[in-house]
Amino acid sequence: MASSQRVKITLACTECGDRNYSITKNKKLHPERMEVRKYCPRLKKHTIHRETK
Ligand SMILES: [Zn+2]
Repeated sequence: MASSQRVKITLACTECGDRNYSITKNKKLHPERMEVRKYCPRLKKHTIHRETK
């Protein structure tokens, strides 16, 4: 198992900046910054959430 490839990241809403999600990703599959469409509770709609440090 390549468990060392899994890293914790935070996803922040690109519209309001809130950090709404913490997930783990496989760094081998996604070496770049991830962008995921997720629900933002502040804006009450789906927005693009981008990986932050
Ligand atoms: Zn937001």
